Amino acid sequence: MKHSKYGINTICTHIGEIEDKQFKGAVSPIYVSTSYEFDDVAVKRYPRYFNTPNQEHLAKKIATLEHTESALIFGSGMAALSALFLTFLKSGDHLVVQNTLYGGASHFIREEFPKYGIEFTFTDGYQVSDFAAAIKPNTKLIHIETPSNPLLTITDIKGIAELGKTHNILTSIDNTFASPINQNPIDFGIDIIMHSATKYLGGHSDILAGALAASDELIGQIWHVAKNFGGNLSDYTVWMLERSMKTLALRVKKQTKNAEKLASYLEKHPDVKAVFYPGLKSHPQYDLAKSQMHGFGAMMSFELQGHLDALKFQKHLKLIKSSMSLAGVESTVLSPYLTSHALLTQEERDAIGISNQLIRFSVGIESKKDLIDDIEQAILKTKTEAI
Ligand SMILES: *Cc1c(COP(=O)(O)O)cnc(C)c1O
Repeated sequence: MKHSKYGINTICTHIGEIEDKQFKGAVSPIYVSTSYEFDDVAVKRYPRYFNTPNQEHLAKKIATLEHTESALIFGSGMAALSALFLTFLKSGDHLVVQNTLYGGASHFIREEFPKYGIEFTFTDGYQVSDFAAAIKPNTKLIHIETPSNPLLTITDIKGIAELGKTHNILTSIDNTFASPINQNPIDFGIDIIMHSATKYLGGHSDILAGALAASDELIGQIWHVAKNFGGNLSDYTVWMLERSMKTLALRVKKQTKNAEKLASYLEKHPDVKAVFYPGLKSHPQYDLAKSQMHGFGAMMSFELQGHLDALKFQKHLKLIKSSMSLAGVESTVLSPYLTSHALLTQEERDAIGISNQLIRFSVGIESKKDLIDDIEQAILKTKTEAI
Protein backbone atom coordinates (compact mmCIF):
# COMPACT_ATOMS: atom_id res chain seq x y z
CA MET A 1 0.00 0.00 0.00
CA LYS A 2 1.75 3.10 -1.20
CA HIS A 3 0.03 6.40 -0.62
CA SER A 4 0.98 9.61 -2.38
CA LYS A 5 1.34 12.84 -0.45
CA TYR A 6 -0.69 14.52 -3.19
CA GLY A 7 -4.44 14.85 -3.52
CA ILE A 8 -6.31 12.90 -6.17
CA ASN A 9 -6.61 15.70 -8.75
CA THR A 10 -2.92 16.55 -8.42
CA ILE A 11 -2.04 12.90 -9.02
CA CYS A 12 -4.28 12.80 -12.10
CA THR A 13 -2.80 16.02 -13.48
CA HIS A 14 0.88 15.68 -12.65
CA ILE A 15 2.17 12.30 -11.52
CA GLY A 16 4.15 10.59 -14.25
CA GLU A 17 4.38 13.60 -16.55
CA ILE A 18 7.55 13.75 -18.63
CA GLU A 19 9.36 17.04 -18.27
CA ASP A 20 10.06 18.69 -21.63
CA LYS A 21 13.57 19.83 -20.83
CA GLN A 22 14.32 20.93 -24.38
CA PHE A 23 11.41 23.25 -25.11
CA LYS A 24 9.66 23.49 -21.74
CA GLY A 25 6.32 22.53 -23.25
CA ALA A 26 3.35 22.19 -20.90
CA VAL A 27 2.63 18.53 -21.66
CA SER A 28 4.64 15.32 -21.87
CA PRO A 29 6.43 14.89 -25.20
CA ILE A 30 5.61 11.71 -27.13
CA TYR A 31 8.52 9.32 -27.66
CA VAL A 32 7.70 7.17 -30.65
CA SER A 33 11.14 5.60 -31.16
CA THR A 34 11.31 1.84 -31.34
CA SER A 35 15.08 2.02 -31.04
CA TYR A 36 17.17 3.73 -28.34
CA GLU A 37 20.93 4.14 -28.26
CA PHE A 38 22.54 2.04 -25.53
CA ASP A 39 24.06 3.87 -22.67
CA ASP A 40 23.81 0.91 -20.38
CA VAL A 41 23.41 -2.45 -22.04
CA ALA A 42 21.18 -3.65 -19.21
CA VAL A 43 18.45 -1.14 -20.12
CA LYS A 44 17.04 -1.93 -23.52
CA ARG A 45 14.16 0.36 -24.24
CA TYR A 46 11.66 -1.16 -26.65
CA PRO A 47 7.88 -0.62 -26.84
CA ARG A 48 7.08 -4.31 -26.35
CA TYR A 49 9.17 -4.30 -23.16
CA PHE A 50 6.71 -1.77 -21.69
CA ASN A 51 9.62 0.58 -20.98
CA THR A 52 9.40 3.49 -23.41
CA PRO A 53 9.37 6.86 -21.62
CA ASN A 54 5.63 7.36 -22.16
CA GLN A 55 4.71 3.87 -20.97
CA GLU A 56 6.96 3.99 -17.91
CA HIS A 57 5.73 7.41 -16.88
CA LEU A 58 2.02 6.81 -17.34
CA ALA A 59 2.36 3.53 -15.44
CA LYS A 60 3.51 5.65 -12.47
CA LYS A 61 0.26 7.60 -12.55
CA ILE A 62 -1.82 4.39 -12.61
CA ALA A 63 0.25 2.81 -9.81
CA THR A 64 -0.08 5.96 -7.69
CA LEU A 65 -3.84 6.04 -8.22
CA GLU A 66 -4.12 2.38 -7.18
CA HIS A 67 -1.70 2.73 -4.21
CA THR A 68 0.59 0.08 -5.70
CA GLU A 69 4.33 0.07 -6.34
CA SER A 70 4.07 -0.70 -10.02
CA ALA A 71 1.81 -0.92 -13.06
CA LEU A 72 1.88 -2.01 -16.70
CA ILE A 73 -0.19 -0.59 -19.56
CA PHE A 74 -1.66 -2.93 -22.19
CA GLY A 75 -3.26 -2.72 -25.63
CA SER A 76 -6.68 -3.63 -24.18
CA GLY A 77 -8.33 -4.73 -20.98
CA MET A 78 -8.32 -8.29 -22.31
CA ALA A 79 -4.58 -8.10 -23.05
CA ALA A 80 -4.07 -7.12 -19.41
CA LEU A 81 -6.34 -9.89 -18.16
CA SER A 82 -4.82 -12.60 -20.36
CA ALA A 83 -1.31 -11.59 -19.24
CA LEU A 84 -2.49 -11.77 -15.62
CA PHE A 85 -4.10 -15.20 -15.99
CA LEU A 86 -1.30 -16.76 -18.01
CA THR A 87 1.39 -15.47 -15.65
CA PHE A 88 -0.08 -17.07 -12.56
CA LEU A 89 -1.82 -20.12 -14.06
CA LYS A 90 -0.15 -22.98 -15.85
CA SER A 91 -1.22 -26.43 -16.96
CA GLY A 92 -2.74 -28.31 -14.00
CA ASP A 93 -3.53 -25.14 -12.02
CA HIS A 94 -7.04 -24.06 -11.07
CA LEU A 95 -8.76 -20.66 -11.12
CA VAL A 96 -11.73 -19.66 -8.97
CA VAL A 97 -13.63 -16.93 -10.73
CA GLN A 98 -16.78 -14.94 -9.99
CA ASN A 99 -19.84 -16.11 -11.93
CA THR A 100 -20.98 -12.57 -12.78
CA LEU A 101 -17.99 -11.80 -14.95
CA TYR A 102 -17.33 -9.49 -17.89
CA GLY A 103 -18.40 -11.46 -21.00
CA GLY A 104 -15.02 -11.27 -22.75
CA ALA A 105 -13.25 -12.58 -19.66
CA SER A 106 -15.70 -15.43 -19.39
CA HIS A 107 -15.17 -16.33 -23.07
CA PHE A 108 -11.40 -16.22 -22.60
CA ILE A 109 -11.58 -18.67 -19.71
CA ARG A 110 -14.07 -21.06 -21.31
CA GLU A 111 -12.52 -21.04 -24.80
CA GLU A 112 -8.78 -20.78 -24.09
CA PHE A 113 -8.14 -22.41 -20.70
CA PRO A 114 -8.92 -25.96 -21.91
CA LYS A 115 -6.22 -25.56 -24.60
CA TYR A 116 -3.67 -24.79 -21.88
CA GLY A 117 -4.89 -27.48 -19.48
CA ILE A 118 -5.90 -24.87 -16.90
CA GLU A 119 -8.89 -25.76 -14.73
CA PHE A 120 -11.48 -23.28 -13.56
CA THR A 121 -14.63 -23.00 -11.45
CA PHE A 122 -17.19 -20.25 -11.81
CA THR A 123 -18.68 -19.58 -8.37
CA ASP A 124 -22.37 -20.16 -7.64
CA GLY A 125 -22.73 -16.69 -6.11
CA TYR A 126 -20.72 -13.68 -5.03
CA GLN A 127 -20.47 -14.28 -1.27
CA VAL A 128 -17.05 -15.12 0.20
CA SER A 129 -18.46 -18.57 1.11
CA ASP A 130 -19.18 -19.21 -2.60
CA PHE A 131 -15.51 -18.60 -3.38
CA ALA A 132 -14.34 -20.69 -0.41
CA ALA A 133 -16.52 -23.59 -1.60
CA ALA A 134 -14.88 -23.52 -5.05
CA ILE A 135 -11.26 -23.73 -3.82
CA LYS A 136 -9.32 -26.89 -4.69
CA PRO A 137 -5.83 -28.05 -3.70
CA ASN A 138 -4.49 -26.77 -7.06
CA THR A 139 -6.21 -23.35 -6.94
CA LYS A 140 -3.61 -20.67 -7.68
CA LEU A 141 -5.74 -17.57 -8.29
CA ILE A 142 -9.10 -16.11 -7.22
CA HIS A 143 -10.48 -13.47 -9.56
CA ILE A 144 -13.38 -11.16 -8.65
CA GLU A 145 -15.32 -8.31 -10.23
CA THR A 146 -17.06 -5.74 -8.03
CA PRO A 147 -19.36 -3.93 -8.61
CA SER A 148 -20.49 -6.50 -11.16
CA ASN A 149 -22.29 -6.12 -14.47
CA PRO A 150 -25.20 -5.56 -14.89
CA LEU A 151 -26.85 -5.95 -11.46
CA LEU A 152 -24.13 -4.13 -9.50
CA THR A 153 -23.64 -6.85 -6.92
CA ILE A 154 -20.86 -6.19 -4.43
CA THR A 155 -18.18 -8.73 -3.51
CA ASP A 156 -16.46 -8.40 -0.13
CA ILE A 157 -12.93 -7.39 -1.21
CA LYS A 158 -11.36 -7.78 2.23
CA GLY A 159 -13.08 -11.12 2.74
CA ILE A 160 -11.71 -12.41 -0.56
CA ALA A 161 -8.21 -11.10 0.16
CA GLU A 162 -8.23 -12.87 3.55
CA LEU A 163 -9.55 -16.07 1.98
CA GLY A 164 -6.67 -15.95 -0.51
CA LYS A 165 -4.07 -15.34 2.20
CA THR A 166 -5.42 -18.17 4.38
CA HIS A 167 -5.06 -20.63 1.50
CA ASN A 168 -1.89 -19.11 0.05
CA ILE A 169 -3.71 -18.21 -3.18
CA LEU A 170 -3.20 -14.98 -5.12
CA THR A 171 -6.22 -12.71 -5.55
CA SER A 172 -7.06 -10.36 -8.41
CA ILE A 173 -9.87 -7.95 -9.17
CA ASP A 174 -11.34 -6.33 -12.24
CA ASN A 175 -11.63 -2.77 -10.91
CA THR A 176 -12.98 -1.29 -14.15
CA PHE A 177 -16.49 -0.40 -12.95
CA ALA A 178 -15.38 1.46 -9.83
CA SER A 179 -12.18 3.02 -11.25
CA PRO A 180 -9.34 3.91 -8.87
CA ILE A 181 -11.27 7.04 -7.91
CA ASN A 182 -14.01 5.03 -6.23
CA GLN A 183 -12.19 1.87 -5.09
CA ASN A 184 -8.62 0.89 -4.16
CA PRO A 185 -8.63 -2.89 -3.63
CA ILE A 186 -4.95 -3.05 -2.67
CA ASP A 187 -5.87 -1.34 0.61
CA PHE A 188 -7.99 -4.38 1.46
CA GLY A 189 -5.25 -6.86 0.63
CA ILE A 190 -6.01 -7.83 -2.99
CA ASP A 191 -2.79 -8.70 -4.84
CA ILE A 192 -3.40 -7.60 -8.44
CA ILE A 193 -5.70 -4.97 -9.91
CA MET A 194 -6.85 -5.04 -13.51
CA HIS A 195 -8.49 -2.28 -15.55
CA SER A 196 -10.05 -1.96 -18.92
CA ALA A 197 -8.64 1.53 -19.49
CA THR A 198 -11.08 1.69 -22.40
CA LYS A 199 -13.64 2.70 -19.79
CA TYR A 200 -13.13 5.31 -17.05
CA LEU A 201 -9.36 5.77 -17.41
CA GLY A 202 -9.85 6.73 -21.07
CA GLY A 203 -13.30 8.13 -20.44
CA HIS A 204 -14.05 9.56 -23.89
CA SER A 205 -14.98 6.39 -25.82
CA ASP A 206 -11.97 6.80 -28.11
CA ILE A 207 -9.18 4.69 -26.56
CA LEU A 208 -8.83 0.91 -26.23
CA ALA A 209 -6.37 0.07 -23.46
CA GLY A 210 -5.80 -1.94 -20.30
CA ALA A 211 -3.69 -1.90 -17.16
CA LEU A 212 -2.46 -4.06 -14.30
CA ALA A 213 -1.29 -2.65 -10.97
CA ALA A 214 0.46 -4.58 -8.18
CA SER A 215 3.67 -4.84 -6.16
CA ASP A 216 7.05 -4.54 -7.90
CA GLU A 217 7.52 -8.26 -7.44
CA LEU A 218 4.23 -9.36 -9.01
CA ILE A 219 4.46 -6.82 -11.83
CA GLY A 220 7.98 -8.13 -12.48
CA GLN A 221 6.61 -11.64 -12.87
CA ILE A 222 3.83 -10.44 -15.16
CA TRP A 223 6.32 -8.44 -17.23
CA HIS A 224 8.35 -11.55 -18.03
CA VAL A 225 5.26 -13.18 -19.55
CA ALA A 226 3.66 -10.07 -21.04
CA LYS A 227 6.70 -9.13 -23.11
CA ASN A 228 6.43 -12.55 -24.79
CA PHE A 229 2.74 -12.07 -25.59
CA GLY A 230 3.39 -8.62 -27.02
CA GLY A 231 0.25 -6.87 -25.83
CA ASN A 232 1.66 -3.41 -25.13
CA LEU A 233 -0.16 -0.21 -26.06
CA SER A 234 1.18 2.04 -28.83
CA ASP A 235 2.93 5.11 -27.44
CA TYR A 236 0.62 7.40 -29.40
CA THR A 237 -2.32 5.97 -27.47
CA VAL A 238 -0.37 5.95 -24.21
CA TRP A 239 0.00 9.68 -24.68
CA MET A 240 -3.74 10.06 -25.37
CA LEU A 241 -4.48 8.05 -22.25
CA GLU A 242 -2.25 10.34 -20.19
CA ARG A 243 -4.18 13.33 -21.48
CA SER A 244 -7.49 11.66 -20.66
CA MET A 245 -6.43 10.68 -17.17
CA LYS A 246 -5.70 14.26 -16.15
CA THR A 247 -9.47 14.70 -15.77
CA LEU A 248 -10.15 11.20 -14.40
CA ALA A 249 -11.10 12.30 -10.89
CA LEU A 250 -13.11 15.30 -12.11
CA ARG A 251 -15.05 13.13 -14.54
CA VAL A 252 -15.66 10.16 -12.29
CA LYS A 253 -16.71 12.29 -9.31
CA LYS A 254 -19.21 14.21 -11.44
CA GLN A 255 -20.47 10.97 -13.01
CA THR A 256 -20.81 9.39 -9.57
CA LYS A 257 -22.76 12.39 -8.26
CA ASN A 258 -25.06 12.30 -11.28
CA ALA A 259 -25.57 8.56 -10.78
CA GLU A 260 -26.49 8.99 -7.11
CA LYS A 261 -29.09 11.61 -8.02
CA LEU A 262 -30.47 9.63 -10.95
CA ALA A 263 -30.69 6.43 -8.91
CA SER A 264 -32.86 8.17 -6.29
CA TYR A 265 -34.96 9.78 -9.01
CA LEU A 266 -35.51 6.47 -10.80
CA GLU A 267 -36.22 4.62 -7.57
CA LYS A 268 -39.15 6.97 -6.85
CA HIS A 269 -40.46 6.82 -10.41
CA PRO A 270 -43.83 5.03 -10.74
CA ASP A 271 -42.85 3.59 -14.15
CA VAL A 272 -39.67 2.03 -12.77
CA LYS A 273 -39.97 -1.32 -11.04
CA ALA A 274 -36.47 -1.60 -9.55
CA VAL A 275 -33.12 0.18 -9.48
CA PHE A 276 -29.81 -1.59 -8.93
CA TYR A 277 -27.22 0.84 -7.58
CA PRO A 278 -24.92 0.21 -4.60
CA GLY A 279 -25.42 3.79 -3.38
CA LEU A 280 -29.11 3.23 -2.66
CA LYS A 281 -30.03 2.25 0.89
CA SER A 282 -32.33 -0.34 -0.70
CA HIS A 283 -29.31 -2.14 -2.27
CA PRO A 284 -28.85 -5.31 -0.18
CA GLN A 285 -25.11 -4.61 0.12
CA TYR A 286 -25.22 -0.87 0.67
CA ASP A 287 -23.19 -1.15 3.90
CA LEU A 288 -20.55 -3.36 2.33
CA ALA A 289 -20.27 -1.02 -0.66
CA LYS A 290 -19.92 1.93 1.69
CA SER A 291 -17.16 0.19 3.63
CA GLN A 292 -14.99 -0.55 0.59
CA MET A 293 -15.78 2.21 -1.95
CA HIS A 294 -14.90 5.91 -1.80
CA GLY A 295 -17.93 6.60 -3.99
CA PHE A 296 -20.62 4.30 -5.38
CA GLY A 297 -19.66 4.70 -9.03
CA ALA A 298 -21.60 5.76 -12.10
CA MET A 299 -22.88 2.41 -13.36
CA MET A 300 -26.40 1.26 -12.52
CA SER A 301 -29.28 -0.61 -13.99
CA PHE A 302 -33.02 -0.29 -13.70
CA GLU A 303 -36.07 -2.27 -14.66
CA LEU A 304 -39.00 -0.58 -16.37
CA GLN A 305 -42.54 -1.59 -15.37
CA GLY A 306 -44.12 -4.19 -17.63
CA HIS A 307 -46.38 -1.73 -19.46
CA LEU A 308 -43.37 0.06 -20.99
CA ASP A 309 -41.45 -1.51 -23.87
CA ALA A 310 -37.79 -1.25 -22.86
CA LEU A 311 -36.54 -1.18 -26.45
CA LYS A 312 -38.96 1.53 -27.52
CA PHE A 313 -37.99 3.54 -24.46
CA GLN A 314 -34.34 3.40 -25.47
CA LYS A 315 -35.18 4.44 -29.05
CA HIS A 316 -37.05 7.49 -27.75
CA LEU A 317 -34.11 8.72 -25.71
CA LYS A 318 -32.50 11.64 -27.51
CA LEU A 319 -29.53 12.69 -25.40
CA ILE A 320 -28.74 9.32 -23.86
CA LYS A 321 -27.42 6.99 -26.56
CA SER A 322 -28.11 3.31 -26.78
CA SER A 323 -24.61 1.85 -27.15
CA MET A 324 -22.39 -1.05 -26.17
CA SER A 325 -19.56 0.66 -24.34
CA LEU A 326 -19.60 2.40 -20.99
CA ALA A 327 -17.90 4.93 -18.74
CA GLY A 328 -17.50 7.70 -21.29
CA VAL A 329 -18.37 11.31 -20.49
CA GLU A 330 -21.61 10.72 -22.42
CA SER A 331 -24.48 8.76 -20.87
CA THR A 332 -25.34 5.46 -22.54
CA VAL A 333 -27.86 2.66 -22.04
CA LEU A 334 -28.27 -0.91 -23.27
CA SER A 335 -30.37 -4.02 -22.77
CA PRO A 336 -28.22 -6.76 -21.20
CA TYR A 337 -30.53 -9.47 -22.59
CA LEU A 338 -29.57 -8.43 -26.13
CA THR A 339 -25.88 -7.78 -25.44
CA SER A 340 -23.76 -9.13 -22.57
CA HIS A 341 -26.25 -11.89 -21.73
CA ALA A 342 -27.60 -12.66 -25.22
CA LEU A 343 -26.03 -16.14 -25.26
CA LEU A 344 -28.01 -17.28 -22.22
CA THR A 345 -31.49 -18.75 -22.51
CA GLN A 346 -34.50 -16.87 -21.15
CA GLU A 347 -34.64 -19.33 -18.23
CA GLU A 348 -30.97 -18.80 -17.41
CA ARG A 349 -31.44 -15.04 -17.48
CA ASP A 350 -34.53 -15.27 -15.30
CA ALA A 351 -32.56 -17.33 -12.80
CA ILE A 352 -29.97 -14.55 -12.38
CA GLY A 353 -32.50 -11.73 -12.44
CA ILE A 354 -31.84 -10.27 -15.90
CA SER A 355 -35.24 -9.52 -17.40
CA ASN A 356 -36.02 -8.06 -20.82
CA GLN A 357 -37.11 -4.90 -19.00
CA LEU A 358 -33.66 -4.36 -17.49
CA ILE A 359 -31.63 -1.40 -18.77
CA ARG A 360 -28.00 -0.84 -17.92
CA PHE A 361 -27.19 2.80 -17.52
CA SER A 362 -23.68 4.30 -17.73
CA VAL A 363 -24.13 7.79 -16.34
CA GLY A 364 -22.12 10.57 -17.97
CA ILE A 365 -21.17 14.11 -17.01
CA GLU A 366 -24.15 15.88 -18.60
CA SER A 367 -26.31 18.20 -16.52
CA LYS A 368 -28.51 16.09 -14.31
CA LYS A 369 -31.68 17.98 -15.28
CA ASP A 370 -31.14 17.26 -18.98
CA LEU A 371 -30.73 13.54 -18.29
CA ILE A 372 -33.93 13.47 -16.24
CA ASP A 373 -35.81 15.47 -18.90
CA ASP A 374 -34.63 13.02 -21.54
CA ILE A 375 -35.82 10.02 -19.53
CA GLU A 376 -39.18 11.72 -18.82
CA GLN A 377 -39.89 12.51 -22.47
CA ALA A 378 -38.87 8.98 -23.53
CA ILE A 379 -41.17 7.40 -20.93
CA LEU A 380 -44.02 9.65 -22.03
CA LYS A 381 -43.53 8.78 -25.71
CA THR A 382 -43.28 5.07 -24.95
CA LYS A 383 -46.50 5.26 -22.91
CA THR A 384 -48.39 7.17 -25.60
CA GLU A 385 -47.33 4.60 -28.16
CA ALA A 386 -48.53 1.76 -25.97
CA ILE A 387 -52.06 3.14 -25.77
C1 LIG B 1 -14.64 -3.59 -21.23
C2 LIG B 1 -14.33 -4.42 -20.06
C3 LIG B 1 -13.29 -5.36 -20.10
C4 LIG B 1 -12.47 -5.65 -21.36
O1 LIG B 1 -11.72 -4.56 -21.73
P1 LIG B 1 -11.28 -4.27 -23.25
O2 LIG B 1 -10.57 -2.96 -23.10
O3 LIG B 1 -12.53 -4.19 -24.06
O4 LIG B 1 -10.40 -5.36 -23.69
C5 LIG B 1 -13.02 -6.09 -18.95
N1 LIG B 1 -13.73 -5.92 -17.83
C6 LIG B 1 -14.75 -5.02 -17.75
C7 LIG B 1 -15.50 -4.89 -16.49
C8 LIG B 1 -15.08 -4.25 -18.87
O5 LIG B 1 -16.09 -3.40 -18.79
